[in-house]
Formats: sequence, C-alpha cells, structure tokens
Amino acid sequence: MHHTETIALAGYSPGTIRHLAVHRLGTPDARPKVYIQAGIHADELPANLVASRLLRELVAADAAGRIAGEIVVVPLANPIGTANVQAQRLMGRSFGASGQNFNRGFNDVSQAVVARLENGEAIEDAIRASLDEITPRDEATALQLQLQKLACGADIVLDLHTDSEAELHLYLDPDHWPGAADLAGLLGVPVVMFARHSGDNPFEETCTAPYLAARAAGHDAPLPFATVVELRGERDTQAENTQRDAMALFQFLCARGAIAGEVADIPAFDGIAADFSATDVLRSPAAGIVVFKQSLGSMVSPGDVIAEIIDPLCGHDQPPATVTTRTNGRFFAHSSERIAWPGSVIGKVHGSEPIRDGVSGVLYD
Ligand SMILES: [Zn+2]
Repeated sequence: MHHTETIALAGYSPGTIRHLAVHRLGTPDARPKVYIQAGIHADELPANLVASRLLRELVAADAAGRIAGEIVVVPLANPIGTANVQAQRLMGRSFGASGQNFNRGFNDVSQAVVARLENGEAIEDAIRASLDEITPRDEATALQLQLQKLACGADIVLDLHTDSEAELHLYLDPDHWPGAADLAGLLGVPVVMFARHSGDNPFEETCTAPYLAARAAGHDAPLPFATVVELRGERDTQAENTQRDAMALFQFLCARGAIAGEVADIPAFDGIAADFSATDVLRSPAAGIVVFKQSLGSMVSPGDVIAEIIDPLCGHDQPPATVTTRTNGRFFAHSSERIAWPGSVIGKVHGSEPIRDGVSGVLYD
C-alpha cells in the first residue's frame, strides 16, 4: 500500500528545517526489499526525473497489487544540496559548510556489525543498531545517516546519479557480475565498472561493506545488490531519456521479482564490463581550454588524441598540448567544463585490462 512519509532532518541552522520525502510501496518488510534513491549529488537532476517517473509506475503497480516485496523510493535524496545555489548555478555535489562531497564519508559500520554478529545478532539488526549508535556531526552527515537507515536491509539498492557529460554506465561490486547483466541489458549501458573499497565510503559501498566484512569473518551473509546507475550527464533531462530509463528500471524490478507480472525480453549486454582499474582517467597536462577530438561513445586505442588543451595566449601558432588515452576502450564520459589545469580530470575511457593500481582518488560518479 503506497504511503508517503516525511522525515524532518535535524535543524542545524536556526530557523531552517529540511525534509526528506520517502515513498513506501508494497508490504513492509516483505522480500525482496528494494531501496531507490536519487540525487545524493543534488546537481544530477536527471536522476531525480527518472526516480519521479519510475515512482508513477510503481504507484500504479502497487494499486494493482503487483508489488511483491517492499519498495522504498526517495526521489530527492538531498534537499540540502538542492538549495545550494550560487550566482544562479546549482552547486549540489558538495556540502557548502564543510566542502564534503555528499557521496563520500558515509558510515562504514562493518567492524561494529561483525562484533554484534559474534553475539548472535542477525546482520540486518546489527547494521541498524550500529547506525543507531552514530551521532552525526553536521547537517550533511545527518542526511547521510538517515539515508543509510532507510536502505538498511534492502536486497536491491539503486543509487541514481549522473556523470558530468556521459553515456549510461554502472558501478557495482565485482560479485554481482555477470548477474547484473539483466540491468545492464535493459538499460542498454555500454560500460559497467566493478568497484569495491574504492575509498572514502560512497553510499552504495557502505551498503555492502558490512556484508563483505561479515563474510570475511566467516558468517553467511548474502551480498545485497547495490549499484550506482549513472543516468548520462547532468544536463540530460530530455523527456525521452527519462521515460526510457525509468521503464528499464521498472522492467529490471519485474525481472528480479520485486514486481509481479510479465517480464520483458532482456537484451544481451554487449558493452565493456571490467574493474574500475581498467578505466583510463584522462588528465590534462597543462592549463588551457579543452577541445575534445573524440565524441562520447567513440572506441579508441592507445595513443589516440582525446582532447587538445589550447592556451589562448600562445595562439594557434604552437602545437597544443594533447590528452591521449593509454588503453583500448570506450570514451564514455567527460567533464562539462571546458577549462583545464595541470592534472585536472577531463574524461574517462573504459577498457578491459587493468591499467592502474587501486581505484580511489579519481573522478567517480
Ligand atoms: Zn553523482
């Protein structure tokens, strides 16, 4: 039965209170439990659009008695960031007061959970109790904690984002591949990246971390499917994309048994699925203006020039600095900024072979 819950976030600024709208569908605590949130990066507005469009389908399915388990939807996960407008520009990626990236620094309760498991608690109870022990230090961490509590115990977590300018792509735990080829095929994503412990605790990894830790400690803890769905770029609000992506997510939920009814034919995934360490993170060698020489979706090879960096003070008389790729792969994302400085990330190429150590510290989600 669909109902809406309004959660008041603790007030951290005198005279200000923000609210989180939470939609609950199906039967409380029924399985599978699905948790969907959109726009923890508050400037990734296509994510909010897709969640809103999907919600309409879910409400209709609920009215028809088709929700098999429980589905929780937070179509606007970051009311703090949504209000962070400076000079008519939405700055929703980071918390203004601290500069903290809203999708970093979520609580990893793995250690506390494993300790509780030793005392015989069920893992979902252990996670909830561990989260309940945390005192947030500011408004942003209070929001993060609330979102983690809402997602607690979910079998499927869809964390909806966008990149800067990009094609559709997914981040997920390596254990969920090729199992998640259904989602990849339905969305038609050309790129899937495997990430685990990528650093700084993004939301979806803190959903799975306690289960991985429990497993490492010898407990039986089936890993929830938590994935970041990157719904193209920040400006891709076209209605046809919203409709298409929302219906793909709806079909995915049918395929996973969260919604009863006919399951669509699932297109085969024909993109590149590989560890995030196979992503070539393209950095500018110089300060200047970015001129891309490849379009998103291009297949590129080592040495291919992806962009030129032009210093306007040198004119066009000197050869520009260039950004080349080191891998065979797909140029699937780039920055929406056209100004670069030495070391700034301007884009990403996803290949099949690992080309760098570790996965942290780079443009991500
Ligand atoms: Zn994001």
